[in-house]
Amino acid sequence: MRIAFPALLLTTLLGRAALAPAQPVSLVPPNIVARDTGATMQRLAEGVYVIVHEPATNEWPHGNTGVIVGENGVLIIDSNYLPARAVDDIALIRQVTNKPVRYLVNTHWHGDHTHGNGVYRDSFPGLAIFGTRESAPFIELNLKKLPTGALAANSYSRTTLAALEASLARGRDSAGRAWTAEERTEMAVSIGQRKFELTELAKVKVAAPDQVFEGTFTLEMGGGRRVEFRNMGPANSVSDVIIYLPADRVLFAGDILVYPSPYTSGSFFMPWIGVLEALQRYSVAALVPGHGPVMANHDYTRNVHDAFASIRTQLDSMYRLGMVPPDAAKKVDLKALRNRFWVPAGRPIREAFWEEWTRSVSERMSLCVMGYSC
Ligand SMILES: [Zn+2]
Repeated sequence: MRIAFPALLLTTLLGRAALAPAQPVSLVPPNIVARDTGATMQRLAEGVYVIVHEPATNEWPHGNTGVIVGENGVLIIDSNYLPARAVDDIALIRQVTNKPVRYLVNTHWHGDHTHGNGVYRDSFPGLAIFGTRESAPFIELNLKKLPTGALAANSYSRTTLAALEASLARGRDSAGRAWTAEERTEMAVSIGQRKFELTELAKVKVAAPDQVFEGTFTLEMGGGRRVEFRNMGPANSVSDVIIYLPADRVLFAGDILVYPSPYTSGSFFMPWIGVLEALQRYSVAALVPGHGPVMANHDYTRNVHDAFASIRTQLDSMYRLGMVPPDAAKKVDLKALRNRFWVPAGRPIREAFWEEWTRSVSERMSLCVMGYSC
């Protein structure tokens, strides 16, 4: 099964290198009930679905979207990166139910899970949007800053697009090598995606959670359908929510789990380790990560936990021996765990990638281990 590698690391470190499979993680065989060119909708249990998306660009993915059908309405878990994708998701949802969407819950504040909030609110008046007290202000801020952030004349999105267009027009790379026909096609596709991304980001509306909760919140959806929202605290983001359906043993983990490699930008590693331990106490028939395929058990949860915990233990031991950063972070060795994750195929790319991942996480985690900040 070939799976797109998430976000920046792919383009910055790997180029177009193929991915090598890790030790297999048990997946739930997809029971596809609807699809379009950018997504498949899979049934996980009676009235419980997930929509798994193709990435929006070669840098940004859409988050997985959960769809829970209750007696009188539908609950949506996360609303995607681009509004057009949320519109398309509603069309997929209409293929399995004509009940109105009454509830939406954001697992955390990142835009690939919240930019579509406005589409759902406009499509379903009276929609209740849930989020934690910690994440709600960041969701609002992230949605409000788009016009001056991503869409500004000198924004990262615009300058990256301009650089891509200039490179394609020049016909060769910085070393003077002419682009192959295949590379030109890929660049043209990427340019098209990024232009569409900018158009779509301009359409994002501010629709932050209006139902703020702390700790655990239980949503009764009628007909005995009970859905638990639990704030797991800081982990991948400042506040990460899981959604659990105890009767069906379906767990939506948000970006506490991103497959095939953890997304660690702006994360809180020390509490994240504890969250991964707590997650494993939930019995699962289907475990839905924030990105990636549906898993059948907690093998991958354990893999992510073991990687972070090993870094913490190694750093802690080195500090006790008097070693100081950044030297300690450079000495962390995670080679034994490399085969539990998907990493690029072929040496030395494969080793260089894992080395870079280990070093990057170790450097940031060293601040946690020493007690400065995390
Ligand atoms: Zn995400």
